[in-house]
Amino acid sequence: MDIKNLQRENIKNLRPYSTARDEYKGQASVFLDANENSFGSPLPENFNRYPDPLQLDLKDALSKIKGVPIENTFLGNGSDEAIDLLFRCFCNPGKDNVIILPPTYGMYEVSANINDVEIRKVNLLPNFQLDLEGIAEAIDEYTKLIFICSPNNPTGNSIVRTDIETVLANFKGLVIIDEAYINFAKQRTFIQELTEYPQLVILQTFSKAWGLAGLRLGMAFASSIVIDILNKVKAPYNISQSTQDLALAALQHVAQVNDWIKITVAERELLSQKLADLPMVKKVYPSDANFVLAEVEDAAGTYNALVEQGIIIRDRSKVVLCDGCLRVTVGTPRENEILLSALKSLTY
Ligand SMILES: *Cc1c(COP(=O)(O)O)cnc(C)c1O
Repeated sequence: MDIKNLQRENIKNLRPYSTARDEYKGQASVFLDANENSFGSPLPENFNRYPDPLQLDLKDALSKIKGVPIENTFLGNGSDEAIDLLFRCFCNPGKDNVIILPPTYGMYEVSANINDVEIRKVNLLPNFQLDLEGIAEAIDEYTKLIFICSPNNPTGNSIVRTDIETVLANFKGLVIIDEAYINFAKQRTFIQELTEYPQLVILQTFSKAWGLAGLRLGMAFASSIVIDILNKVKAPYNISQSTQDLALAALQHVAQVNDWIKITVAERELLSQKLADLPMVKKVYPSDANFVLAEVEDAAGTYNALVEQGIIIRDRSKVVLCDGCLRVTVGTPRENEILLSALKSLTY
């Protein structure tokens, strides 16, 4: 597969911005090349210097946890940066198209619209799995990207592995598997399949299990050809020094994160069961993520009644295939109890 020819012609011909740090890589003690403040910084010491554009120390530490080599790793200002870059690198505005599989994460569509790229929607089947025939029919020679979210937001289920492999085997563009919730799933990551499929892109994030949504740090894992293209187009210093320092420190706390994941999964099962026992709840969908989707008698009414009590969940009832559904993030045991007793107290 010729990934290089998938990129837009202007991107293929792009000469990327060359940073001061790109042009000099040796050991020096006097840096007068980047117009920084040589006296220092009012904040931590190294903040007066531009950060490593490729975040190599952080990627090195990450590679030991994920088992993905540095040259197959991209870091962005949230996964949302990687999503936007995929459009900018591979999709010709007004000409190419991408396939998304509703109900799913909203950013794919927003990014497509920002970049003036046609969206082809192939809804998931009623069991929230892939409509493989529909996907095959939607693909044409201008289809560049297919976004598969697994576990899927907002439905919570993992997509059947062999179905994803069918798409990978038959589609000539990039297949993006968004694994934002993979830490909570029984299904294993597709990271091991990266060597097999040059067109596979896996998105993960520090925003969910890692507890660092405020930091804005997302990961994309892919063949080095794809990673090089993303790096060529990204803003030169897209990850700040503070984010790199803090993420590196966070990686020392894998055990804490794994504990939270275990508790969250146990709480998810408990919450699902207790929700299902409430008279107002018609159905609780099985979840492989840190949230559950539940169909209720009166979604808008329930949502508003909870807001009155200072409890915010997500009303997904207007989303395709999610009629009457609310999406609830699994909280701490105490938060889940507060939610459940609030729901029990609702009478209408
Ligand atoms: C939350 C979420 C993300 C994370 O996005 P960030 O920009 O990394 O915070 C990505 N994909 C899906 C499906 C999500 O639900």
